Amino acid sequence: MAETPKLIDSKGKRLDGRKANELRPLTIEAGTLKRADGSAYLEWGNNKVMAAVYGPRECHPRHMAHPARALVRVTYNMASFSVGDRKRPGPDRRSTEISKVTSEAFASVVFLEQFPRSSIDVFVEILQADAGTRVAALTAVAVALADAGIPMKSLLAGVAFGKIGGTVVLDLGKDEDNYGEADVPLAIIPRTEEIVLLQMDGDLTAKEFQKGMKMAIAAAKEIYEVQKDALKRRYAVSVEALEAEEGAEEELKEETVEEEA
Ligand code: ADP
Repeated sequence: MAETPKLIDSKGKRLDGRKANELRPLTIEAGTLKRADGSAYLEWGNNKVMAAVYGPRECHPRHMAHPARALVRVTYNMASFSVGDRKRPGPDRRSTEISKVTSEAFASVVFLEQFPRSSIDVFVEILQADAGTRVAALTAVAVALADAGIPMKSLLAGVAFGKIGGTVVLDLGKDEDNYGEADVPLAIIPRTEEIVLLQMDGDLTAKEFQKGMKMAIAAAKEIYEVQKDALKRRYAVSVEALEAEEGAEEELKEETVEEEA
């Protein structure tokens, strides 16, 4: 059996040089897909995720529609090329579980009553996976929903904490996830610090759990800033594009008037 690598050194530095409470680099771009009502592309460490939102739209099959509110239906899919060994294409137990828990997390922030009998359909493609894809997916979906103009009481930030070599750390990478002692993915409303998803693999003491939660809540606020920034940049681009379009229309009008004169 291969020896377990030393995941954290005596100075508290991790394999990739991060400190215990440090996230992997995170970037988000909103509105990357033209044909979806809302979308977001996210890179988080070596994870690459695309999220697309359609709706609110008429719910099909009709018998699934709720008379008083919308359904949020998330489909999480890992591309065959997203992991080292080719992943067998299509849904499996893991993707079904992640789709379900993600749908449930968003059902607690979207104002579902505003759209009776409708569905909000969300598709997540994991293009590259390196541990923490469910929280990366949650973070991307929140931006895609906001980009689609879906009313929500707040954005959600996905983040995980865990334990490696006896130390509580934030945002586990692949080796840390494989060889670590615990992994706790969460979805957090950063503004109110409410937890809307909590899963746990491994074991932790209550004290370690509290320490991890504190780190995760602080990280959720950092992630929230990146999400808001992505939406602001998207909005700024839209205004610029609109102004350019208006300018072109004005020019055309002026040319037509000149020609007619
Ligand atoms: P998460 O991606 O949310 O951490 P898991 O803990 O289930 O979810 O998976 C951890 C990591 O294991 C994934 O991010 C991915 O890198 C890898 N992984 C998951 N499923 C597969 C698979 N079917 N084949 C190869 N690697 C996988």
